[in-house]
This record gives sequence, structure tokens and C-alpha cells, in this order.
Amino acid sequence: MSKKRLSIPEYAMALAEVASLRSEDPFRKVGAAALDADNRVIATAYNGLAPGFDAPAGFWDDRDQRQKFMLHAEVNLCSLFKRGEASIVATTTMPCTACMQTLCAYGIREIYYREVYKASDAPEIAALYGIHLEQISARVD
Ligand SMILES: [Zn+2]
Repeated sequence: MSKKRLSIPEYAMALAEVASLRSEDPFRKVGAAALDADNRVIATAYNGLAPGFDAPAGFWDDRDQRQKFMLHAEVNLCSLFKRGEASIVATTTMPCTACMQTLCAYGIREIYYREVYKASDAPEIAALYGIHLEQISARVD
């Protein structure tokens, strides 16, 4: 363990990474965390199926078929607070275009991600709306 204190974005990312461990998706595990303006943790979430839905046998066999049913971590995250309550969001993968739009609608001003998602328009959306979107590398210490 590093003796250096985590920055707020690193703290949020660490929480997002723990949340990703709860994902039941065998192909892609994504976690997200939201902090309020006082840096208090208000929500953590991960990608998965709708609450209460038990996947039938064979559901996870086809990677492409399952995709449309997956609720993304950011959408699940936003279901846990009201617009304006969260200021900072960390997510283990760059938000997809739809999730970036959702985060905008919820008034998120700072977004940190770890893995790049090339198919996403998130950087362009962030630039237009003046949202801080930044990649956080894994700590090396
Ligand atoms: Zn998404």
C-alpha cells in the first residue's frame, strides 16, 4: 500500500473499481462512483441486468446477444440520485455516448475514467458542454 494520500479522483476511481467487482457480466465489468460537491460518496454502481431479473441458463453464452440487455454502470449510478446532487463521477471505462449524454442530463461536471472506449463520442460531448473529462492511469507506486 502506498503511503501517499489518494486524490479525490483517485478515491472515486478506487470505489468504481471495487463496484465493478460486483458485475455479473462475464465479458465486461464496469464500475462507477459518484461524489457530491463536498466529495462525499453518494452512490456506486456497476453494469448488469435490470434489478430483480435472474438470467436464465445460457443467457451469458452469447456475448453479442446479451449486450442490448445490459444496463450500463453510469445509468445504474444515475438511478441512485437526483439531478444536481452529484458533481464528480468516476467510471472504470470511458462513458459510451448514451451514458455521457445521461451524465450531462444529471449535471455532472467532472468525469474520470480509466480505460479508453474508442467508439464513444464522450470527449466531443464533454468539450461542447464544458465538462471536465479526464483519464486516470493506474497508480504505479
Ligand atoms: Zn454506457
